[in-house]
Amino acid sequence: MIYLDWAASAPSEPAALSAAAEAAALHANPSSPHPAGRAAAAALEDARRRLGALLGGGRVVFTSGATESNSLVLLSVLDRTREAAGRRPGVVVSGIEHSSVHDQAERIAALGAACRVVRAGSDGRVRPDEVAAAVDRDTVAVSIMLVNNETGVVQPVAEIARAARSAAGQRRLIVHTDAVQAFAKIPLEPGSLGVDAASLSAHKIGGPRGIGALWLRGGMALPVLAAGGGQERGMRPGTENVAGAAGFAAAAEARLARLVADAARARDLAARLSRSLAALPGARLFPAARADGETDLCSPWIVCFGFPPLPGEVVVRLAGERGICIASGSACSSHKRIRTRVLEAMGHDRRTALSAVRVSTGPSTSEADIDALLEFLRADLAPHMAAAAGGSPPRGGRG
Ligand code: PLP
Repeated sequence: MIYLDWAASAPSEPAALSAAAEAAALHANPSSPHPAGRAAAAALEDARRRLGALLGGGRVVFTSGATESNSLVLLSVLDRTREAAGRRPGVVVSGIEHSSVHDQAERIAALGAACRVVRAGSDGRVRPDEVAAAVDRDTVAVSIMLVNNETGVVQPVAEIARAARSAAGQRRLIVHTDAVQAFAKIPLEPGSLGVDAASLSAHKIGGPRGIGALWLRGGMALPVLAAGGGQERGMRPGTENVAGAAGFAAAAEARLARLVADAARARDLAARLSRSLAALPGARLFPAARADGETDLCSPWIVCFGFPPLPGEVVVRLAGERGICIASGSACSSHKRIRTRVLEAMGHDRRTALSAVRVSTGPSTSEADIDALLEFLRADLAPHMAAAAGGSPPRGGRG
């Protein structure tokens, strides 16, 4: 099997597995004042301290994953209803956000907030001036992701934070970034980006599934709408996942220790794949600039392309039959009917957007893996592309 879906979930780092197993033996509740509880609390705090150090300071709040981290930020907006007498607190997000931001923003709009969605350019980037233009006197939060999980495009978050704050003037504004596809994959220090909050997830970097974090600027706290035992300074009540936290810290340390060398190899692989795709008849890269070798625009770990009008899900199914694991859109949205939002927000028509396929690599991906994928695309796709263009299924397949 060739695994090229690391952005959906990454193979475990050995150090994360052993750290999580060791911490799992600490069975006590970290809130318990007895020695067993204190041992669990010490392991939790150790993981928090190590993650904080890797992020350049600030506060780490453990959550069940980035979906929850994102929703904590967005739900906090509802708490401002009382402040803005008679007016609706507002949130600004982009059309290319992961559904845990985009759809959550729509959810809080249904609960009484105002939600503005900013589009991206055809290069896949959200423009700081468009975010600033969407900020009005009632905006209390702006959430723009750092690396898009479908296209890999790196967003100008530092400029966006600056522009949004200057549009807000003296008013208090929470600037949040979903940094899931950035942390331990590209250099990241949320404090120097100028954001107040950043969402992280362990399983995208070889840590355990079901653990994530919300990084908060020092001294910052979020109002949370869930009550409970007051854990995580009240921001995320519920008994903490000590084993998950230990595995998360170990995975992050392992990945960051090798980041420079790993990212250089990933860049070479992404360039090899993009160059070869650009030469394949019918192939399109998203964003197109990637075909010209503009890799600085994008994370080296994600390449998005398609063979319109061949639906991406057909490519994914055929690749799976060859033992190659790739994705169409994000894995989290594969339960939903609409999987075209991100490419449509970049200005593509629906048919082109439906063709998108995502290849995401990791530290152990080899040139041979990329070459096997290219061989499959060259050899197996041609009849399906002809059929898709003509509207009929090829013999021996559903198209
Ligand atoms: N944000 C982005 C950009 C993602 O890629 C994902 C996962 O696909 C998430 C959030 C959700 O992360 P988690 O699985 O930790 O809830």
